[in-house]
Amino acid sequence: MNVPLLDLRRQNEPIRDELLDAFRRVLDSGQFILGKEVEQFESAAAAVAGARFAIGVTSGTDALLLALMALGIGPGDEVICPSFTFFATAGSVSRLGARPVFVDSLDDTFNLDPAGVERLITPRTRAIIPVHLFGQAANMDEISEIAARHRLSVVEDVAQAFGAAYRGRPLGTLGDFGTVSFFPTKNLGALGEAGLLVTNDAALAEKARLLRNHGAHPKYYHKMIGGNFRLDALHAALLGVKLPHLCRYTELRQQHACQYDRELRRFDGKGAVELRLPAMLEDRTHIVNQYTIRVGPGPRWQGPESPRDALRRHLTARGIGSEIYYPVPLHAQKCFRDLGPQPPLPICERMAAEVVSLPVFPELTAEEQASVSEAVGEFVEEGPATLEIGR
Ligand SMILES: *Cc1c(COP(=O)(O)O)cnc(C)c1O
Repeated sequence: MNVPLLDLRRQNEPIRDELLDAFRRVLDSGQFILGKEVEQFESAAAAVAGARFAIGVTSGTDALLLALMALGIGPGDEVICPSFTFFATAGSVSRLGARPVFVDSLDDTFNLDPAGVERLITPRTRAIIPVHLFGQAANMDEISEIAARHRLSVVEDVAQAFGAAYRGRPLGTLGDFGTVSFFPTKNLGALGEAGLLVTNDAALAEKARLLRNHGAHPKYYHKMIGGNFRLDALHAALLGVKLPHLCRYTELRQQHACQYDRELRRFDGKGAVELRLPAMLEDRTHIVNQYTIRVGPGPRWQGPESPRDALRRHLTARGIGSEIYYPVPLHAQKCFRDLGPQPPLPICERMAAEVVSLPVFPELTAEEQASVSEAVGEFVEEGPATLEIGR
């Protein structure tokens, strides 16, 4: 059975008329950038995020950039962030002339290791960017405590976890800023590029709003050097149609995750390969932007190919979509060679070699999911059919 990694058409089809109405409304308004649609979406999104202020921007990447600009991060500054994350987390630091300092991850949740953060702090450290990877919060109490003790800013990268909470508190509000992405593959996906910056700090919100629009207030009077990070009215209107469904999308993702856990648990840690299911911690919600399993070599594993790559080949041969988030940790990326030799980060290097994300989009059917589980289970028990693995 063919199972796509993601099928956005299934999500948009039931709300097609509402989306078309929103499109017509914007078309007829003649107002295409910021304005009423953006303001309405910002207040609805702030409520969902549990934040006092929400600022609509062009993308999750720009939300990160804008947050760091508003905090005054620049040349000479160091910003600690995980290596096992999407590129934008560290790319935005470098774009401002600051230096990303990479920290290893925790083996259970894929999120950055607070003890590692503490060891990397120098007099130049200005901020920490915890990423709530795959939809589950990083260890924010430890991170906030370290940040407070060393007077560091915290920008939470909430790109994959919009609407999730940590110990009952909404993500994005635990640091100075939270940055959200509405890239189409995220839990709340726009029909194009869009993002959001959230904060509870009125002064920072005001500064970010100015910087979003070239630092100008009033128009053509520039108080600071900002950029063009303005959200389109059309994207705000379309996102406004999808936002009320976010809770339901999340529930469906969580149900799929539970179902995978049930179906795959019996293969956990045995067979030709070692399978590890994602940890879901009790003190935080996991909104399952990705359901990411790990596949390592079991005692009987042989052959040049990694078990993860072999599993992927096995899934592809059965028409099942999967993706590797992320194959190369950031400290090993070519573009960061200028930073000089990087200390090894063994946990995230191992994760990069072992992870594979399975289809978990809300509209995935039970039959589709069963065939994914079956294919994974078959591989874990039998190994790749085409490889001699010394059975
Ligand atoms: C998607 C993502 C971003 C960037 O968001 P865009 O909207 O694609 O610019 C940043 N950080 C993480 C962790 C992401 O997953």
